[in-house]
Amino acid sequence: MKTVDLRSDTVTQPTAAMREAMLAAPLGDDVFGDDPTVNALQEKIAALLGFEAALFVPTGTQSNFCAILSHCQRGDEYLVGQMAHCYRWEGGGAAVLGSVQPQPIAHETDGTLPLAEIEAQIKPDDAHFARTRLLCLENTLGGKLLPLEYVKAATELARSKGLATHLDGARLFNAATAQAMNLMPNTPLAGILPAQSAIELEARAIAQNFDSVSVCFSKGLGAPVGSALCGSRELIQTAHRIRKMAGGGMRQAGMLAAAAIYALDHHVERLAQDHALAERLGDALAQIDGLTVDPVHSNIVFVDVREPLKAKAAGLIAHLKQRNILATGLYRLRFVTHLDVDQEGVDRAIAVIQSYFRGSD
Ligand SMILES: *Cc1c(COP(=O)(O)O)cnc(C)c1O
Repeated sequence: MKTVDLRSDTVTQPTAAMREAMLAAPLGDDVFGDDPTVNALQEKIAALLGFEAALFVPTGTQSNFCAILSHCQRGDEYLVGQMAHCYRWEGGGAAVLGSVQPQPIAHETDGTLPLAEIEAQIKPDDAHFARTRLLCLENTLGGKLLPLEYVKAATELARSKGLATHLDGARLFNAATAQAMNLMPNTPLAGILPAQSAIELEARAIAQNFDSVSVCFSKGLGAPVGSALCGSRELIQTAHRIRKMAGGGMRQAGMLAAAAIYALDHHVERLAQDHALAERLGDALAQIDGLTVDPVHSNIVFVDVREPLKAKAAGLIAHLKQRNILATGLYRLRFVTHLDVDQEGVDRAIAVIQSYFRGSD
C-alpha cells in the first residue's frame, strides 16, 4: 500500500521531468558567479517578486539568517512572532551566531501580530535597550494567510518607525494562491483554479511590502533543495557575504537551481489542488465530535483534540503509521498536503482517522 505522507510538504520527491531539467542544466562555479542556471534562477525570482536581486541559498533557515544579519548589526533586535519560524524553529541562529536578539510577540489567533504590540515593542533610543531594527512577518504562517490589508498596515507602521521589513515567505506561493482564490468570484469548487499569472500577481502584491523576502522551493513547490532571498542589490551583496560565512557558497549549484526554475514554471498553478485536498481533509475531521479544526487557508490542517478524545488521540500518530499514513503531532495534530498526495490518499487518511475515533478499527 502506498504511503500517504502528510508530515510536511518537504517530503516530495522530484518528478521525472524535474530530474531531467536538473540533468540538462548548464553549470559553472557559483562561488565565482559562473553558474548560468543559478544566475537565471536568481534573475527569475527577483523579477517575479519585483526585486532588484536575489540570492540562491541551500535552506530557508539560511535565507532568514542572511536576511536578519543583512538588516541588523550586532546589538540590534528584530520583532517577530512567537511561533514564527525565524524565531522558534531556527536554533536561535540570529542570536547565537549574529548577536542579534529577537523580540518575540504573541500572535492573534489569525496569525497576525497586533499593531499596538509591534509599536509598543519598538525600544526608545536609550543605552539600556537593543536597537529595534527589523520587523519579520511570515506568510503563510501555520498555513494561515495573513490578510493583505494587515501586511500593508504592519509594514507601513514598521517603515514609519524607521524599521526594515523582512518576509519569511517559505510558503509565499501558497499565500498567493490562497489570495488569488479568495479574489475569484463565486467559483468555490467546480475545479476552476487561479491561473499562474494571477498567483504571480498576488505573490508580488504581498512581496512588494517588504525590503526582503525569503521563498522556499523545497516546500509545496516540490524542489529537492533550495530557497531564495530577494531584496535590493545592496542588501543581496551583504547577504552574499553572510551566506559565504555561513558555509552556503555552493559550486555547481545549477543542478539544484534547475529544479527550482522547473518548480516555478510547473508547480505553482497546481498548489490550488493541494489547498482543495487540505480543505477536504479539514472538513471531514471537523465532523468528528471532539476535534477542532483551524480554518484551512492553504495546504496545512491543524487539529486540536478536546475531551472526550484527548486520551485516545495520543495513540493516533502510531495507529496511522501502522497503516502507512504519516502525520505529526508536536504541539497539535498537523496534516500537510503536497505534490505527492492525491485524493485517494487523503480519503484513506480520513477513513482511518474516522474509524479510529469511532473505536471500530
Ligand atoms: C521550512 C520553513 C523555513 C526554512 O526551512 P529549511 O528547512 O531551513 O529550508 C523557514 N520558514 C518557514 C515558515 C518554513 O516553513
